[in-house]
Amino acid sequence: MTHTSFTLLGETIKPGSHAQLELTAPASYGNAVMAIPVYVFHGKKPGPCLFVSGAIHGDEINGAEIIRRLLKSSALKSIQGTLIAIPVVNMYGFMYQSRYLPDRRDLNRAFPGNKTGSLTSRLAHLFMNEIVKKCNYGIDLHSGALHRSNLPQIRINLATQHAERLAKAFNVPVILNANFRDGSLRQAANEMNIPILLYEAGEALRFDDIAIRLGVKGILNVMREINMLNHVRHKTAHIQPRIARASSWIRATKSGIMHPYKDLGKAVSRGEVIAVIADPFSREELEIIAPNSGIIIGRNNLPLVNEGEALFHVANFEEVEAVAYQVSEVQYENSDDWMDEF
Ligand SMILES: [Zn+2]
Repeated sequence: MTHTSFTLLGETIKPGSHAQLELTAPASYGNAVMAIPVYVFHGKKPGPCLFVSGAIHGDEINGAEIIRRLLKSSALKSIQGTLIAIPVVNMYGFMYQSRYLPDRRDLNRAFPGNKTGSLTSRLAHLFMNEIVKKCNYGIDLHSGALHRSNLPQIRINLATQHAERLAKAFNVPVILNANFRDGSLRQAANEMNIPILLYEAGEALRFDDIAIRLGVKGILNVMREINMLNHVRHKTAHIQPRIARASSWIRATKSGIMHPYKDLGKAVSRGEVIAVIADPFSREELEIIAPNSGIIIGRNNLPLVNEGEALFHVANFEEVEAVAYQVSEVQYENSDDWMDEF
C-alpha cells in the first residue's frame, strides 16, 4: 500500500520516521521566543492521526510525564497512522508553575481561540489550527488543581460520537459523564467532530505514579482500539470501566481544620461521616456527612478549609462496591508493591 508523507508545522515527515518540531507560541512583551516542542511519529502504514496533549494547565505536570514515558515506548516503532504528542502546551505556565498564562487567562476556557485575540486566545487558535485540525482523535491530559487530587478517570460527554467506545478502551475503572465547559478544547474539538478524551489524574505540581502508569497504558490501549497498534498486550482484561452519569461536591459546612476519613477511590454511603472539621482554637468538632452514596473521585488535600469550599468529589454509580473493588485492584496492580514482586 502506498502511503504518503505527513506535513506539520512546515516540515515533512516520511512514512516510518519521527521528528521533533517546534510550535512557536505567540510573542509576549518579553524578548524570549517561546517554543513548544511537538513530537511526531508517522507510521509506515496509513491510519488515523491522534494527538496527545499535556499541561494545557501549566502546573498539571502528570500529563507531561505520561507523554515523556509514552515517547520511550517501543510500541511506537510499529504504529499505523500518525501520533502527535505535545508534552507541554502551556509552556508559559509550565515555566512559572502556574495553571494560567502570563495574561492570567485559562487556556482551557479560550478555545477555539482567535488570531487577533489575547495572548491566551492566540495560543488556543494556533494549537487548534496547527495541531487539532490535522487529527481524527485527541487525548488531553489533566490533573486536579493545587491541593486537589483526582482519582484516575476519563471524562467524556456521552452525546459525543465514539466517546464511550474510546473511553472504555482507555481502560480505567471510572468514566465520568461531564458536560462540555465553554471554551474548553474538548468542546471546540467536538464542534469539528474530533472526539477528545479527557484524562484527569493526580494533583497539580505533584507526580502520581499510579496515575502516570495508567495514563501511558490508557493511551496505548486507545491506539489499539483505533487500529494504530496491534491488539492485545498490556490490556488488563478484568477491568470493566463503568460510567457515572452524575457527580457532586461535598463542601465544608464550617471553616476550620479538616481531618478526612476517606481516601480517593473509596466507596461512601449516604449518611456516613467522611470527615471532621475541627475548630483550631476550641474543642469544637463538626462531622461532615455524605449526602449520597458513591465513589470519591476527587479530594481536597489541604487541611485548612473555609466554609463552602469543596472537600470531596463523589461520583454516582449504580454498582458502588464493584467500582471500589476494581479501583483498589488497579491501584494495587500499578503500585510499586506489585511491581517489586517481579
Ligand atoms: Zn487541567
